[in-house]
Amino acid sequence: MKLENANYERVILAIERLTSSNPKYCQCMRCRLDVTAISLNSLPPRYFISPSSMEVEELASPLLMVEASVLHALERVAQCPHHERPEAKNITDNIKKILEKAKEKDIE
Ligand SMILES: [Zn+2]
Repeated sequence: MKLENANYERVILAIERLTSSNPKYCQCMRCRLDVTAISLNSLPPRYFISPSSMEVEELASPLLMVEASVLHALERVAQCPHHERPEAKNITDNIKKILEKAKEKDIE
């Protein structure tokens, strides 16, 4: 017997579907886990003891509700990821490159 959350699989599948169709969402493990945690915390608790006589499908929250919650979590994590934003990193890298080139020119 084990304790399971009936929404877990739905959340994972929704993240998979929504991130693969929209490249603006980071697919790294940290962001995925953050989105999973936020989504599961915002959905109503759906814990059950497995094996159960009921199907996971009957126990889980409605698909639309899960997708809405995942989308909300994706937006939140995209706005404030637990790592440097890719765009921000590119800008810093570009500035570094420009500064390096400027130094090379000074030496010449
Ligand atoms: Zn990420």
